[in-house]
Formats: sequence, structure tokens, C-alpha cells
Amino acid sequence: MNKNFLYIVFCFCFATITVFTQTTTREVAVTIDDLPVVSMTKDIKFYQQITKDLLGKLKKYNVPAIGFVNEGKLYEDDKLVDERVDLLRQWLNAGLELGNHTYSHQSLNRIPAKDFIEDVLKGEKIIRKLFYDTSKALIYFRHPFLHTGRNEETRDSLNEFLEEHNYKIAPVTIDNSEWIFARAYEKAFIDDDSLMMKKIADEYIPYMVSKFEHFEFVSRELFGYEIKQVLLIHANKINADHFDKLAEMMIKRGYKFIPLKEALEDKAYNSADSFFGAGGISWLHRLALTAGKSKDICKTDLPAPDFVKKYAGVENE
Ligand SMILES: [Zn+2]
Repeated sequence: MNKNFLYIVFCFCFATITVFTQTTTREVAVTIDDLPVVSMTKDIKFYQQITKDLLGKLKKYNVPAIGFVNEGKLYEDDKLVDERVDLLRQWLNAGLELGNHTYSHQSLNRIPAKDFIEDVLKGEKIIRKLFYDTSKALIYFRHPFLHTGRNEETRDSLNEFLEEHNYKIAPVTIDNSEWIFARAYEKAFIDDDSLMMKKIADEYIPYMVSKFEHFEFVSRELFGYEIKQVLLIHANKINADHFDKLAEMMIKRGYKFIPLKEALEDKAYNSADSFFGAGGISWLHRLALTAGKSKDICKTDLPAPDFVKKYAGVENE
């Protein structure tokens, strides 16, 4: 074997490794809804522990997450609770972003656009004040339940308002029913049933793997490549306890964590979406239905296990 040949073999291998690495790098923005905390209790110590554990795990894995706030949850009997506002300060102090998820988490499919817009405005009062002390700006808005209005007129009214107020809509591609696991997990915690907590947590990560597999597939079907994904989870105990396992699962699948802004730079997000159904579904499913794909494409993902649904007291996902 002469030297030139070895050099060519080396170059070929290097190029192959480079191409392989590039094509297998996946990117995801982690978005966390219903801040400050989703819980069945009003125990501030519990909220503080969830925030501390979740922020600690986000930091450990360098996840530039964004949290979407329901400001209504900052009040008790119409009085602002400072300790709850402080939980949001901790997000900003950790270098993370915050977005508006409306004051009271109502569905745009169920109330008039005018009332919904009032709820958006009411939902930005505290976060705007918190932003004054930082170099950040309030940019992102997320629809509660991912409901974007049952008709064009409703959707357009809100979109016009959002544009006038310099908001950008934060879509979700990797949608899932993690909230059912979270409800069951917290219930098991309250019931002091550590075996059940473990059983639920053991199912949580494989379930999320199935969601990633599904939306990676839908993305390839629609765009011919895997777009920069946007994951939705919530600020709850299951993620406070197990986000590290979720992060490791994503890293194992080749994901790099990116800010929402970077994810939305993917040209895929310029695609037109004219879905007006009742469901709060993934942006990828909306696009698939807009493109006239069979509804079957939305059904290939796995449901949450029955025992988790039953323990959570949830009949429909
Ligand atoms: Zn929400």
C-alpha cells in the first residue's frame, strides 16, 4: 500500500465520519409550561423544592430552556404572593428565558378572542417588571392547550394582537401527555407510595422515547429531514426528580440543546398552518393535516400506559 493510497483512505474515512456526525446531530429547544409550578398542593416549600431541583438539572445539562408563565398562579385570594414571584426570579437568575402563557390558562377555542387577549395582557404584568432588571426581553407567547382558535377570524385577531405587541408564537413539535405521568407521580408522592412513584417514573422515559421517535418520523415524512424540534414539558415534580434521565435520553439520541430562538430559525417554521380542529395537537401534526396527509400519521405514537392514566384519574389523553 503506498502512502498516497493510505492518505486517500484516511481522507475518505474522515469525510465519512464528518458527514455521519453532521447528519446525526439533532437539535431541540426545551420549553417548560405552566410556571411557576404545576401541583395539586399550594405548599410553597414544595414549589421551592421543585424549582430548585428542576433548575439544578437544567443547569447540569446546559439546557437553555424557556419557561411559560401563568401569572394567575402567582396570586392567592387576589393577593400577589412574593415567594411565588421569587420562583420566577430564580429562572431568570439561572439565565433562562420566560414567556407568556396567559394569566388564567383559558382556551382560545372556548372564549372570544377579545377576552383571550385581555388574559394575555393580564398575564404579562409581573414578568415584564421582572424583565426590567435583566438584559432580556419578553418575546414568546404559548397558547394554553395549544388551542389556536376554531376559525380563521379568531386566530387572526389574536395573531394581529401578538404581532402589534412584538410577541412571537412558540409552537410545540414534540407534544406528549407527560402531564398525566406528572399527575399520577405527584399523587403517589402525596400517598407516600414510593413503589408507585418508581413504577410511573420507569414508564416515563420509554414513553417519551416513543414520542421522540414518532415526531422525528413525522418530520422526515413532511420535510425530508429532521427539523429543529421544540419539546413541551411542564414545571412539575416528575421533571424535578427525573429531568436528568430525560436529558440523557435526548443526548443519547444525538440531540443538542438549543434556545427556542435558534429552533425557530429552521426554515420549516415558515410553513403555512391552516388547521382549525378542536384538538391541541403538535405543530407537526397540524402541518401534516394542512398538507392533506392521512390522519393516520397522527396516530402512530403510543398512549400513556393504562395504570398511569387510572392512577392519575384521567380517562382521555
Ligand atoms: Zn399550559
